[in-house]
Amino acid sequence: MRTADAPAVIELRRCALTYPGPPPVTALAPCELAIGAGEFVTVVGPSGAGKSTLLNVLGLLDSPTSGHYLLDGIDTGALSDAQATALRGRRIGFVFQSFHLLPYRTASENVALALTYGGVPRKGRAELARHALRQVGLGNRMDALPTTLSGGERQRVAIARALVGRPSLLLCDEPTGNLDSATAESVLRLLEELHRDGMTVIVITHDAAVAARGQRTLTLRDGVMSEQARP
Ligand code: ADP
Ligand code: MG
Repeated sequence: MRTADAPAVIELRRCALTYPGPPPVTALAPCELAIGAGEFVTVVGPSGAGKSTLLNVLGLLDSPTSGHYLLDGIDTGALSDAQATALRGRRIGFVFQSFHLLPYRTASENVALALTYGGVPRKGRAELARHALRQVGLGNRMDALPTTLSGGERQRVAIARALVGRPSLLLCDEPTGNLDSATAESVLRLLEELHRDGMTVIVITHDAAVAARGQRTLTLRDGVMSEQARP
């Protein structure tokens, strides 16, 4: 939960994104949002509602066209592209619906590759990758190629890759979208476990059952964000 004295990990102030078009599309209407360290927030809404746009803004992959986005108190609008890239690399881990693993690299190589530009020496990268894979329960499949792994195991590798740089924020776009329900459940349990260990987790989903797992749920509809109070 947010504490009054700690700055929010994420703060949006009148933040909006309109794609220029033509015709222009307001994928995210001006919104206010504060997410504190260690919160587990889900974002739900139908296809085209602006969920991925929001994630791209939060992940510094896209810039708002108006308003402000503060990440750990840093006004990201003032950053150069290089500074934004560096901040993203240090603080943010991404998990996507399709796992984006390199097929001819082992699980641990896929994870270690995420550290290539972080200044960690090669040997250290391999050790950190093995640690991250153990963290997601894949200590026994470190040297497996993605093609020999199940969908759930592949998503665990992708989560390990997101975690290996020790981010403070984990952004997940439909992380269970390609998984059967039993496998999806195990991935959700893993995300909940990371949350219990203190990670700030944001999960985008179009699935109401997945959304209900968050402490808070934001709803997007035609780019307009709302939040239902929890009982
Ligand atoms: P969701 O992830 O909820 O399905 P998106 O954030 O991908 O929704 O898209 C929100 C709206 O913005 C949609 O109307 C979509 O067509 C539009 N959109 C997404 N990306 C672009 C883009 N690069 N250029 C123009 N319009 C876009
Ligand atoms: Mg999307």
